[in-house]
Amino acid sequence: MPDPRVLVIGLDGATFDLIEPWSESGHLPNFASLMAEGAWGRMRSTMPANSAPAWSTFATGLEPGRHGIFYFVGPSRDSEYFRPVSSESIHGRTLWDRISAQGRTVGILNVPMTYPPKPVNGYMIAGMLSPNAPAAFWPPELYQQVVQECGDYVFRVQPQQDRHLFLAQLLSGMEYRCRVSEYLLEHHPVDMFAVVFRMIDPIMHRYWPDMDHHHPLHATLGDSALPDAILSGYRLLDEAIGRLLARIGSRTTVLVVSDHGFRAEYRRFAVNKWLRDRGLLVLRPGRSTLLSAAEDWAERLHVEMTLKSLGKQALGRLGGGATFAPILFKSVDWSHTQVVFGPNVGLNINLEGRDFAGIVPVSRYEALRDRLIEDLKGRRDPETGLAPVAEVYRREEIYKGPVANLAPDLVPEPTEYTTNGQRCGFGLAPSLTGGQEFSSPSRRLAAGHAREGIFIARGPGIRSANLADVGIADMAPTILYAMGLPVPKNLDGRVLTAPFDAAYVAAHPIQYEDPEVEAAGKAGRVLPEEDEVALEQRLRGLGYL
Ligand SMILES: [Zn+2]
Repeated sequence: MPDPRVLVIGLDGATFDLIEPWSESGHLPNFASLMAEGAWGRMRSTMPANSAPAWSTFATGLEPGRHGIFYFVGPSRDSEYFRPVSSESIHGRTLWDRISAQGRTVGILNVPMTYPPKPVNGYMIAGMLSPNAPAAFWPPELYQQVVQECGDYVFRVQPQQDRHLFLAQLLSGMEYRCRVSEYLLEHHPVDMFAVVFRMIDPIMHRYWPDMDHHHPLHATLGDSALPDAILSGYRLLDEAIGRLLARIGSRTTVLVVSDHGFRAEYRRFAVNKWLRDRGLLVLRPGRSTLLSAAEDWAERLHVEMTLKSLGKQALGRLGGGATFAPILFKSVDWSHTQVVFGPNVGLNINLEGRDFAGIVPVSRYEALRDRLIEDLKGRRDPETGLAPVAEVYRREEIYKGPVANLAPDLVPEPTEYTTNGQRCGFGLAPSLTGGQEFSSPSRRLAAGHAREGIFIARGPGIRSANLADVGIADMAPTILYAMGLPVPKNLDGRVLTAPFDAAYVAAHPIQYEDPEVEAAGKAGRVLPEEDEVALEQRLRGLGYL
């Protein structure tokens, strides 16, 4: 069986804050040897540090202003307020398209933002947001083969009240992905194979207080505390890495990549409560069930969630014909609302002439943004004395490109700080109805995403080195380079040559190819000009209608 040229092992949310000490203390022998033999460093994720924009950037080598994905939902502006995004929404060509177009083969397993799966020269099994298991597979017949060889396809794990049981199910879901990867590497060899293990992310969100004695929720756990929950997740990942490395030879370049890092959350700031207190956000009365559904939804995105299960829950309450987006629309009194936070983790101004029920005149837009920036940065948590928001960016300050207009108007960056040697951050809660501006985190989101992910590379021509200045946009061009394929000139990321030794880079100069013309508003579907037929087709494809 031929070995792949490149094997990418994606670990959702993995952080060196845990990997480094656990590697040193002998818990993670495969991480330790990869790091000793290879080149590694902390990797800059997207803003926000979230799976949807981050894996889209991984796939395209473009920053969000050019691929158009800023969160799991995007604005629609015209009728409903937010719509879910999918692989159809990504602007720009993906790594798998480029590799396929060069006549090379790819195998893509559970990379977020690949649903619906697209035809590639090889195969693709989509990950989160697939409505059901068979729909995740391209070509469709691969589904039966995987089920036959690996057992029933575990495509998501439903949250459980029982913390032992939920953890056990997440771990067995991880093990299943490893088994599927082994089967695919063995029986369906390709030139580039990428797998993402997502389940470490919900484990860290929920079980952080179990191992962190300073966490405000630690004492509330009592007998249900599972202090080794996260460690067991990392040990299983380490074992999975070992099993996958055993399947490949020395000619394969191995990249271990996370989409963002992680840190504890000791305090939560309910941004919409803050907006409501200022009269900038007004809710309609008597919508409490709908509101709690919307809040639930925001947290659910952090566990294995599907649009279909979400649709069922939300649509059941709203009645037929609606999509989930109007939950927020119907909760908010748009005729009196100037700004809402979320669900795209940004501040969205209800702008006249742009948004379907816009009330903020364009002439007041900049003044409102200035005031929000100043007031939000000036807010302090009375308990810790800290500012929950470190910085607030105008979207044009951080996003450039033809679809940067899909970004929120303002993007707040939560404050990170260190306490008791522990990296910690404020959670920015998207809850609309929360009664308190500041609170302890919920059990489901006791830790959150950090901007720093991980990058480890080992393989032909790769030296042992510590790397600085690595961005997730650098992944696609670096993978193309490692495969000996041409790299488009106009990507936002660049080929990382630092991991390679000088002789390798001299013998393998980067081949650039001319960029293709960027078609604004053509590829993406979550756009104001989207026509209703296309929308209906897409919602049908997503299992909504
Ligand atoms: Zn997460």
